[in-house]
Amino acid sequence: MAQHIFVCIAHKNGAAEDSAFELAVAAKAIDSGAGVTALVCGDGSELDSACQSVAGAYAEVWKIGNPALAYPNAEAIRCTLLNILPKGAIVLAAHDTLGMDLGPGLSIKLGSAFVPDVVGIEGLDGNDLKLIRQEFGGQVSTHIRCDLTDGAVINIRSGSFQAQDNPVSGTIVDKSKDAGDIQAKRRFMEVVAAEVGDVDITKSDVLVSVGRGIEDQENISIAQELADAIGAVVSCSRPIVDAKWLEKSRQVGTSGKTVKPKVYIALGISGSFQHMGGLKGNPFIVAINKNPKAPIFQAADIGIAQNLLEFVPELTDKIKEMK
Ligand SMILES: Cc1cc2nc3c(=O)[nH]c(=O)nc-3n(C[C@H](O)[C@H](O)[C@H](O)COP(=O)(O)OP(=O)(O)OC[C@H]3O[C@@H](n4cnc5c(N)ncnc54)[C@H](O)[C@@H]3O)c2cc1C
Repeated sequence: MAQHIFVCIAHKNGAAEDSAFELAVAAKAIDSGAGVTALVCGDGSELDSACQSVAGAYAEVWKIGNPALAYPNAEAIRCTLLNILPKGAIVLAAHDTLGMDLGPGLSIKLGSAFVPDVVGIEGLDGNDLKLIRQEFGGQVSTHIRCDLTDGAVINIRSGSFQAQDNPVSGTIVDKSKDAGDIQAKRRFMEVVAAEVGDVDITKSDVLVSVGRGIEDQENISIAQELADAIGAVVSCSRPIVDAKWLEKSRQVGTSGKTVKPKVYIALGISGSFQHMGGLKGNPFIVAINKNPKAPIFQAADIGIAQNLLEFVPELTDKIKEMK
């Protein structure tokens, strides 16, 4: 494969997101011999530290600094990358809020293919790249071929690749001058801090998380009793917040909180990528779901195909007995 691989790095407060390290592994899964460059857009000292934070995972890091890039505005980043990327580039980005915003427009402007929400890379076959996506809420895997002739923009789902500890001494190259005139019609105004709830789910080592499978607000006590028995905190998926059964500060996911527990017990959660996207740090996942084909079982370390309304109270009783 002749093309070079570029990886868009998402970062916050001067540190690269976990996805940056997962994408380094994904790039190698495409072609272990290809050159891989991290693209870090931003401004000021936060940009410098973000570049440093990925220089241990990428042999080459392009630092692209501009006041217009201080906030991750996909429109401004797209404008910058069009001035910087070579023809036929293969661009990887996380399938997160920024990547979903950036990817489609970037691929159209580059005249390349766009493949969102990739969960697996099967490798090259001639000039085709074989990829796996999930459809129908993760119940079906789709194997596709992507023609790389004109390059590609590929969004990788969070958690699909395990970050590896193979440190390199990356070179940081300042490409700020090449960014050109950045024009964006969409302007950043302010960040509004999320509401703070009575508990901080990001600090707990063990989470008992409830999804729509809990069926009724009254049944949340079933999860709370299990959480109390094992010293955990109750978190939830988005439908539970939408139904106003629990407060927003307990929601795990791309539009909720990012959590890094050691153990994650998912009760009646299907395992959508928006939910799993909030789960970082490779926790030990226990999933209880009455549908044996629920996508969460693909991520779970222990999968229990049971009705949670019957199984969880019994489990809690047994734990109390053991104590
Ligand atoms: C832009 C956007 C952002 C989003 N952000 C988030 C986010 O941050 N967090 C989030 O969670 N979602 C988010 N979502 C929603 C997401 O797409 C899913 O709809 C949601 O995660 C599904 O929640 P769930 O798994 O609880 O419900 P469902 O998908 O309805 O799954 C319920 C599961 O419970 C099981 N079940 C039912 N009854 C029982 C029982 N008695 N015992 C055992 N199992 C049972 C079912 O088999 C099913 O698998 C977002 C969506 C969009 C479009």
